[in-house]
Amino acid sequence: MSKTNLSTLLLKWYDLNGRDLPWRVKGGAHPDPYVILVSEFMLQQTTVKTVIPYFERFMQRFPNIESLAQSDLEEVYLYWQGLGYYTRARSLHNTAQIIMNDYKGNFPQTKQEILKLKGFGPYTVASFLALAFNQPETVIDGNVTRIICRLYHLTEPTDKITDKIRRLAEDLTDSAHASDYASAIMDLGALICIPKNPLCNQCPWNNYCQSKNLPDLEKIPNKTKISKTEKNGFVYLIFNNKKQIFIRKRTEPGLLTGLYEFPWSETPLYPNALNTNLNISHVFTHIKLTLNIQTLHKNIPPTEGIFVNINELSNYPLSTLMKKVINIWLKK
Ligand code: SF4
Repeated sequence: MSKTNLSTLLLKWYDLNGRDLPWRVKGGAHPDPYVILVSEFMLQQTTVKTVIPYFERFMQRFPNIESLAQSDLEEVYLYWQGLGYYTRARSLHNTAQIIMNDYKGNFPQTKQEILKLKGFGPYTVASFLALAFNQPETVIDGNVTRIICRLYHLTEPTDKITDKIRRLAEDLTDSAHASDYASAIMDLGALICIPKNPLCNQCPWNNYCQSKNLPDLEKIPNKTKISKTEKNGFVYLIFNNKKQIFIRKRTEPGLLTGLYEFPWSETPLYPNALNTNLNISHVFTHIKLTLNIQTLHKNIPPTEGIFVNINELSNYPLSTLMKKVINIWLKK
């Protein structure tokens, strides 16, 4: 089967079965690059289902690149709250400002220029150029890797055959319809060639797949598992006489910079604090962090930060972890 025929089969399937997503246009129409930019940043490490309501709220408040560039980062965080991976929100805001200031609001369209913007890695650059500008880029994410490995029955560990996967994926890409092709192959991975129980009888590549019906099908792709590091620590809910709670803006560089939080540390900070016997766990990319919740009374801020009423916490962007902390404590 030639590459052209495989991509034609896939594009036909996509015309009939592709998902209608709020950021998507079909049939070679030109999308708004800003819409693609926001959706691509939100979709990094997050599922489509989770992203849709966040995307819709975000676009209502920041409908174009100007409105995002002119906004305050803290407000952007508020609209990102709950999506996690806040570095993406920072990078998106920064990118919007660079596009407005350095490119007069016109999106750059070369790999070299886009790679200089914050938050773009090889995957995001390829998907952005393919989806926003129909450029002949090949998008390779987890879905595409799974499909390629199954289609050609590649059973070696994926990290050992990245070049081979890339070559095969590039070879299949329909350069003339790069945008629709990228969306189509992602939909195939999300709807049909799913990790467990793939729906091979509905797959447009069913007749050409070398793994179909083989007993090891679900074991492909052969991915190396990355074990998570476990960490423990303490988080402090500090109240003053007015029953206000202390929060601080995180300044330490890292994933949560710029967000508000209750003081926390891997080592005890306040020996007189009371242990609530409540623990909360949160999984970051490769770390599982468990915090023991402790309470404390102080009338003067223990460090740089402010006391706020509990019902005003929603005015401050809190990380998902800190929201979990306050929610579990309020429910106790
Ligand atoms: S036939 Fe089955 S395993 Fe092969 S690509 Fe299609 S859905 Fe995936």
